[in-house]
Amino acid sequence: MQTYAEVGVAPVSARETVRHRVVIIGGGTGGIAVAAQLTRKGVHDVAIIEPSSKHYYQPLWTLVGAGVAKAEQSVRDEARFIPKGVRWIQDHAVEIDPEKQLVCTRSGTRVQYDFLVVAPGVVSEWSKIQGAEESLGKNGISTNYSYELAPKTWEFIQQTKEGVALFTMPNTAEPGYTIKCGGAPQKIAYMAADYFRIHNRPVKVIYATAGGVMFAVPEFCQVLEGICERYHIEVLTKHELVAVDPIRKVATFALKDKPGETREIQFDMLHIGPPQRAPQFVRESPIAHQEGQMIGFVNVDIHTLQNPNYPNVFALGDAAGLPTSRTGAAVRKQAPVLVNNLLRVMNGKEPNKRYDGYTACPIVTGYGRLVLAEFDYSNKPTPSIPFINTCKERFDMWLLKRYGLPWMYWNLMLRGLA
Ligand SMILES: Cc1cc2nc3c(=O)[nH]c(=O)nc-3n(C[C@H](O)[C@H](O)[C@H](O)COP(=O)(O)OP(=O)(O)OC[C@H]3O[C@@H](n4cnc5c(N)ncnc54)[C@H](O)[C@@H]3O)c2cc1C
Repeated sequence: MQTYAEVGVAPVSARETVRHRVVIIGGGTGGIAVAAQLTRKGVHDVAIIEPSSKHYYQPLWTLVGAGVAKAEQSVRDEARFIPKGVRWIQDHAVEIDPEKQLVCTRSGTRVQYDFLVVAPGVVSEWSKIQGAEESLGKNGISTNYSYELAPKTWEFIQQTKEGVALFTMPNTAEPGYTIKCGGAPQKIAYMAADYFRIHNRPVKVIYATAGGVMFAVPEFCQVLEGICERYHIEVLTKHELVAVDPIRKVATFALKDKPGETREIQFDMLHIGPPQRAPQFVRESPIAHQEGQMIGFVNVDIHTLQNPNYPNVFALGDAAGLPTSRTGAAVRKQAPVLVNNLLRVMNGKEPNKRYDGYTACPIVTGYGRLVLAEFDYSNKPTPSIPFINTCKERFDMWLLKRYGLPWMYWNLMLRGLA
């Protein structure tokens, strides 16, 4: 692990006021990618506000939940990825004042900036599902949306010998709400179904989504419906999980097409895709959308990633108000656009690069099978690998997900090289 002396900047003490040319909130996928690219382009005087001493490669958690990877393979020390010369303020941002060009942290440090990049990701709103938070990790109830709980999913899949395995997808149509990697709640359903098939277990798999379709892009939706048929997965649309009873093992759904009506489903194991939204300090800041579908997310031009009211503020990743699926693959395309446009603004010019909404969801559909769903703002497939049909389940794409993408993430993307 690098020490502060090795990264070349002194730590900040509480209640101090510091000033940096560029301040980045969040040292996850987006924050580190931007910091690495900025320093490669010769920008110095950069600070990252990031509370966690660990950095997670979250896409691996689906494979952890399916027993294909170990949770420990998804985590490394954050210090290894703070670029040399960048100051790491290991604290939570709690307030953004864009008028004063100031970010305040939980321990009272005041961080002044000339330019701000906002990338603190999203938070899970467990309170939207009555009884869920206190049940997680017990009674067959889990989620892959957490480092600690993804191994529990695998434990519960193995323990389910018969009965019902239930998988849920939250209501992302509600303004201000989302779920990162919207494919992840169904990926684990396919993996579980394949596991039960391989082990000849009479388990009924149910996938219940608050939405109306399996997937927003019709070309991929058709493929995924076929996969559900193959596994005999029962798909319930317009079912929003609102409560969990861990003792009776009953999940309660609000029926979106029958207002006021609910339905109970008994389960043996339950995997929950949590409703998520922007962190509170973002939602309450003037840089957030104040209304509309993206309420609470950072208000940025969906192509230039610049805030329309405060041109020295940019955002990327899950916390940004971008109408595309929130993935690391999307961040990989956003980061160079943001860095280019930020550098231009720093030099008194207008942004001139545009992000087209590209995102990619590698949908594991069984052990050794994957459909690589790539698309953009127009919800049209945008395949990036020539000559192969990524709409079909493929073994080579599975290998890419299991080995290629994690390697690329740690060694290229976080180093500002991809
Ligand atoms: C189960 C699962 C499966 C996924 N599968 C895929 C996949 O297959 N492919 C894919 O491309 N993507 C996938 N993703 C999504 C991907 O991980 C995210 O979209 C990506 O990490 C977003 O990057 P980000 O920088 O916006 O947020 P993050 O990487 O989450 O980073 C946010 C950072 O901000 C920090 N932070 C939080 N609050 C504060 C604060 N108050 N002050 C300062 N810092 C703060 C956090 O500690 C964190 O380090 C998956 C995610 C999950 C959970």
